[in-house]
Amino acid sequence: MNKSLNTRMPVIFIGHGSPENAIEKNEFSDSWKNIAKNIPRPKAIICISAHWTSNETKVTMMENPKTIHDFYGFPKKLYDMQYPAPGSVNLAESIIKTVKTVRVKPDLDWGLDHGTWSVLANMYPDANIPVVQLSLDESLPIEKHLEIGEELTKFRDEGVLIIGSGNAVHNLSAMNPSGKEYEWAVSFDKFVKERLEEKDSKSLVEYKKKSSARYAVPTNEHYLPLLYVLGVSNGDEPKFYCEKIFYASLSMRCVVYGMDS
Ligand code: ZN
Repeated sequence: MNKSLNTRMPVIFIGHGSPENAIEKNEFSDSWKNIAKNIPRPKAIICISAHWTSNETKVTMMENPKTIHDFYGFPKKLYDMQYPAPGSVNLAESIIKTVKTVRVKPDLDWGLDHGTWSVLANMYPDANIPVVQLSLDESLPIEKHLEIGEELTKFRDEGVLIIGSGNAVHNLSAMNPSGKEYEWAVSFDKFVKERLEEKDSKSLVEYKKKSSARYAVPTNEHYLPLLYVLGVSNGDEPKFYCEKIFYASLSMRCVVYGMDS
């Protein structure tokens, strides 16, 4: 196919892990940078971050979203960091019009949380691409997150990059910097990879049936962004990056759909 005719943007799930990935050069931040280098430059970005949960679906609708430092006990350098990307009122309005599964509400209070900026600071350090965030409504039935994702697919054809930022396996209380990966973490991460390869949305929506989910997904805010990305993927083939369990209980797996090379 003539590449110039293929303008559909990729869609990406990033396992974001520690906020320090924003400022550390490591295999994860390097990989995120490489992904950005290998895809067309987006006109705008929609990010669904694990760190914005609410009891309705909201979209940031301010011209200049603030950088939110929503973490504790990290180096001062991280609290000093700003990611001054503009917002996009037009894109937020378009999302409100497009999504029918739920009524998306405009938000003027949030901004960009570290699930978004720790990733984007690596991918697009100049912070000059407009970014909007979509919140996770934790009161919705799980399948609705997939359906909202499906409704966002059309933005890929408008030069918009959609990113889900979470972790497929995320258990902070079990973290162990010197320990071996837990069996449940490896097992659930493998389940996610295999079900994505099979395009088996149903099993991923019904992830609680998997016994390892009890430990791998003790709360689901880091898992749900993956379902949005799956919804947006529209049958494309997944490519995997950062296939690693960090500190024994965090899957850093990234999934990219619609990347040519
Ligand atoms: Zn997180």
